[in-house]
Amino acid sequence: MNIFVTGGAGYIGSICAEALLEAGYAVTVYDDLSEGHRSAVDRRARFVQGRPDEAGHIFNAIQEARPDAIMHFAANALVGESMTNPRKYFHNNVVNGLKLLDAAVEAGVKKFVFSSTCATYGPPERLPMTEDLPQRPINPYGESKLMFEKVLSWYQRIYGLEFIAFRYFNAAGASERFGEHHRIETHLIPNVLKVALGQKPHCEIYGTDYPTPDGTCIRDYIHVRDLARAHILGLTPGRQGFYNLGNGDGYSVRQVLQTCEKVTGKTIPALEKPRRPGDPPRLIASAARAMEDLGWQPECPRLEDIVASAWAWHQRHPQGYPD
Ligand code: UDP
Repeated sequence: MNIFVTGGAGYIGSICAEALLEAGYAVTVYDDLSEGHRSAVDRRARFVQGRPDEAGHIFNAIQEARPDAIMHFAANALVGESMTNPRKYFHNNVVNGLKLLDAAVEAGVKKFVFSSTCATYGPPERLPMTEDLPQRPINPYGESKLMFEKVLSWYQRIYGLEFIAFRYFNAAGASERFGEHHRIETHLIPNVLKVALGQKPHCEIYGTDYPTPDGTCIRDYIHVRDLARAHILGLTPGRQGFYNLGNGDGYSVRQVLQTCEKVTGKTIPALEKPRRPGDPPRLIASAARAMEDLGWQPECPRLEDIVASAWAWHQRHPQGYPD
C-alpha cells in the first residue's frame, strides 16, 4: 500500500512516515518545508516539495503517487500563535486543507487520515475526555481543526471518502532518528530540554493561578511513536470516525519540569509568567474508543520514558536538524 503524507517533514509527520516505511508501506511525503526539514524526510520515502495552497500541484502529486490513503499532518498547530494570527490558521488549516481534500476526492482516493486535536473540545465538562463531549474550542487553532472535522463528515457521507480523525493530546518524545525541532520553539518539553542542554538560561511557566493542584496547566503527554502506531491501525478499511489519542494521565507544567530534571540530571530554572491566552486548564484523554475499536495500546505511556526519548534525541541533535 502507498500512503501520501502531507507534512511528512514535520515532527509528527516524519515519525509517522518512518513508522509506515518500517511497516512495509510505500510513502510519498508532500511538504513545503516551511515548518518541516528536508533531513527529517526518511530516505526511503519519495519527496515532493510543494505548497499547501497550490491545488493543481497537489492534485498532480496525488495523481502521480496514486495513494491508497492520504495522511494529512501539514498544518499550523500553535495555540498561542493562533490567538494573535487567526487568519493564518483558518487559511492554512481550513482553506488549504480543503484544496487537499478536493484533490483527494477528484483523484478517487479511498481514505483520509486527519490530524485533529483535543483543542477542538475547549475546557471539558468532565475528565477523562471522551469523544462525545461537546466541542467548544477556545482558540482559533482548535476551531480550525473542528471546522475541518465537520467537512470530513460531510465528504464521507456525500462523496464516500472514508476518514479517520485522531484528536491528539500532547505529542512528545522522539524516535531513534527523528525528533521535535521547530525553528521557533514554543512547546513545553523541547523548551525545557533546551535549558538542560545549556542553550537557554531558564524556561517559562505560563500561568500559576489555574484551578489545578499546583496552579499550572495539566496536559496528557503521548509518545509520538504511539501516535504513529494508531495511524497505521487506522488504515484498515472500515475503521473510521473520531478517536482521542492520549494516555489518560495528566501532568502539570511543574510536574513536567520535575520529570525533565530527573531524566536529565540537571537543575532547570523556571520563570513564572502570566497565562498564555487560549490555554484550557486541564486536558486529559480517554482513549478507550481507540483501544476498543482499533486495538491500540500505548507502548510508552510513562512521562519519564517519553521525556527520556526526547532527551536522547536532543543530545544527539543539539542544534536540531541542519536544515
Ligand atoms: N507551557 C509553558 N511554558 C512553555 C511552553 C508551554 O508553561 O515554555 C505550557 C502551556 O501554557 C501549556 C502546556 O505548557 O499549558 C503545554 O504547552 P505546549 O505548547 O507544549 O502544548 P499545547 O498544550 O499548547 O498543545
